[in-house]
Amino acid sequence: MLLKRILLNSLFMATTKSTNKSTEKPAAASGKIENSEFHEFFVDEIKDIYWAEKHLVKALPKLKKAATSPELAAAFDQHTQETNSHIATLEQVFELLGEKAQAKKCDAMEGLLAEATSIIEDTDKGTLIRDAGLILAAQKVEHYEIATYGTLVVFARNMGQSEVADLLQGTLDNEKATDVILTEIAVNSINEPAAAE
Ligand code: FE
Ligand code: FE
Repeated sequence: MLLKRILLNSLFMATTKSTNKSTEKPAAASGKIENSEFHEFFVDEIKDIYWAEKHLVKALPKLKKAATSPELAAAFDQHTQETNSHIATLEQVFELLGEKAQAKKCDAMEGLLAEATSIIEDTDKGTLIRDAGLILAAQKVEHYEIATYGTLVVFARNMGQSEVADLLQGTLDNEKATDVILTEIAVNSINEPAAAE
């Protein structure tokens, strides 16, 4: 590890020497060279959310099928399409980072999707209690994604990867909008009748 660090430092010095401005903040565009360990860590986290999105996109149609409210079913349908675009965005991110698009198992998403499955198993078809449960499960997923993308945007900005940060910010905004839509559906048409069932 130490050798690696020394090699990286000398590589870093070699790349910055030519600028002749040693006091200047290093050009951050080539984060891979300048902060290789952090770059690796960042890529690992991108692989994690890539796995999460790829599994979520397969689970969302099951949530749609289980939903009673047509509004909720439509929201799941819309977010399935949006999740496909989140996957495509992550593939663009891999490309910008000079990395192969690869998924790494995300234990958190696996657990959240298992929870969604047990909500479906534990509730009856055609009830709004099930819909309330589906919204609960979906909002846990959205909040997980919001936390993940929120942090990754900050990391990307700190690494000087502004294009990557902008792409991830776009997905973050969409996850937040989805969370708001789910709350609106719950408040407007699910929670009250579900409690009266
Ligand atoms: Fe997503
Ligand atoms: Fe999402």
